[in-house]
Amino acid sequence: MNSHIPAAGAPNPAFLWRSGNLVTWESATVHVNAAGHSTVSSVFEGIKAYWNEAEQQLYVFRLREHLQRLMESIKIARVSCPWSLEEIEAATQELLRANNTRQDTYIRPWTFLKGIVREMIAPPGAEVELAIDTWGFKSHMLTERGCTTGITSWTRIGDNSMPPRLKAFANYHNGRLALAEVRSRGMDWPIFLNDRHKVTEGIGACLAIVRNGVLITPEIASGILESITRDSFLRLFPEVLGRPVVEREVDRTELYVADEVFFMGTGWEILPILSIDGLPVGNGKMGPVAQEMDRVYHDVVRGMDRRFSHWCSPVWS
Ligand code: PMP
Repeated sequence: MNSHIPAAGAPNPAFLWRSGNLVTWESATVHVNAAGHSTVSSVFEGIKAYWNEAEQQLYVFRLREHLQRLMESIKIARVSCPWSLEEIEAATQELLRANNTRQDTYIRPWTFLKGIVREMIAPPGAEVELAIDTWGFKSHMLTERGCTTGITSWTRIGDNSMPPRLKAFANYHNGRLALAEVRSRGMDWPIFLNDRHKVTEGIGACLAIVRNGVLITPEIASGILESITRDSFLRLFPEVLGRPVVEREVDRTELYVADEVFFMGTGWEILPILSIDGLPVGNGKMGPVAQEMDRVYHDVVRGMDRRFSHWCSPVWS
């Protein structure tokens, strides 16, 4: 249920964008000595562009906000990126056009240290290269779906050690350990608690619960990525569904008694959680609020709900 991973054997696009140029997929290589440490400080973004069949248009969802977060990650990582937000935005558009992109597409801008890197700890201000690559994905929106979860015994990384606000590849090692643990227990995905034993997020998505029609989600300072999907849901819930939202601490046992629980993120869109630690959530099926939210989100990201067209950047003129 990973709706941003390319299908096995899916063709690669003709081009990717690398440090100022469109380059063919095959020629976008680095020397082996430029690997390894060069990625210790690497940061990235995960963005989706959705195809609107009726309009024959591709809409990139909240591109500005994603690139703003990329800039924030670069700042916290203390690396130096020679490209401005506006230049990366234009490069993303240029790349999507060069690849004649007319399908749902995942876009990943990411940095790595420039040149041959032998120092394990890159000096502050070290210059990075920026690559943008893309691949097609299959959305699971408007289908009945769900996953099983378990609370992992691994603690979520914290702001004073490996800040989750910074979207660094290295952060996902925490996620891998948690994933291996819950998979060994037969569950699909882990849910992390923080060092105060409060609920934080999943390995690639934020989390929300529904209790008596109210959407509740762990606050920003609970140790989560400042998710753009979370932000979208916090606006869409009251504005479109007329339902209240609350950002606050959430206990592990509150998950067990919630009416609905779901992950939300660019990659996973809305992914209902059907069980936690072997306990069913609600009736163990995708709940009515998740279904409603799924329809709303679908129409917004595909540029069909014109109230939110400011969130959708068209690629084709
Ligand atoms: N948390 C983590 C750890 C993630 O990797 C992601 C996916 N980017 C999210 C939350 C969701 O963030 P967004 O809605 O911006 O994709």
